[in-house]
Amino acid sequence: MQIRNVDFLLTFRCPAKCKHCSYKAGPERRGYMKLKDAKSYLEELTDTQPLQSITVHGGEPFLYFEHLKEIIEKAGEVVVPRRGVITNGYWAKTKEIAKKKLVELKRVGLTCITFSLDSFHQEYIPLEIVKTGIETAANIGFDRVCVDSYFLAGIDSDNFYDTLTREALESLRGLDEVEVHRYRVSFEGRGAELTRHVKLREDLPSGKCPLRFWIDGTLKNPETIEIDFEGNVTLCPGICIGNTKRQPLTQLLQNYNCHAHPILSIIAEKGPVGLLEIAEEKGFKQRKFVDECHLCYELRKYLRAYYPQFLTPVDCY
Ligand code: SF4
Repeated sequence: MQIRNVDFLLTFRCPAKCKHCSYKAGPERRGYMKLKDAKSYLEELTDTQPLQSITVHGGEPFLYFEHLKEIIEKAGEVVVPRRGVITNGYWAKTKEIAKKKLVELKRVGLTCITFSLDSFHQEYIPLEIVKTGIETAANIGFDRVCVDSYFLAGIDSDNFYDTLTREALESLRGLDEVEVHRYRVSFEGRGAELTRHVKLREDLPSGKCPLRFWIDGTLKNPETIEIDFEGNVTLCPGICIGNTKRQPLTQLLQNYNCHAHPILSIIAEKGPVGLLEIAEEKGFKQRKFVDECHLCYELRKYLRAYYPQFLTPVDCY
């Protein structure tokens, strides 16, 4: 396994509780990645892998701002070229506060900041606050300032959520240096509840695993991993390939074999529909899904009790 990108899921705590969150983050969640763990992951990865980027997210990483700063600083020391964070911007309550935090992050070596902005986040974080964060970040001199927006049905859809997201994005007009990324919601975690607002397919989604946009490579040779604060090393949310509390990260990556993983081996060979046979033997009945990833999620959720160490963290389900 040749890892080029690592995501640290610093915490699943968050001031928001978005309807589409894959990790079911929220104010009631507890726990965060210890600095000694984060630093040792960075040392191991840069010693053994062609690591090009680190992205810290969660949950909301600015809740542990001093940790966030130290992780970014350490990533610079071990020469990870791209160092980013994803935030909902809740902290940008005034221009002065936003500037102070962003200047500190620039000083310790942050190169890219991504703000989440869409109808789901804005149910909890006032648009004006996140806009203050984005506008301030655009003037600090980061290599990249990005906005990630999630759509329920599609960028042109006229449903309530997508209309609000479009309006929120329109309000950024004029900020030409900001990159806007538009994605479709993943119907997993808390997002699985959103399927009642979209059309389900009549046929069974039986295509290949499309692989998530952030995982470069393939399921057999993924180039991106996520590590959460409990040591779970995951590909898609809730698909675990090992835990750093049980096995050193370097060893875990060296030993990774997609064919030996009871869930990924099937998904890689037959697509997520391959899991259906096992689930149906155990009583799974659901027949309608949005797409391959929704099918995959519902099957994994059903099978979780049989493969707890491979289908974790539990809060994804
Ligand atoms: S949810 Fe399943 S089908 Fe979708 S990208 Fe992840 S592993 Fe592949």
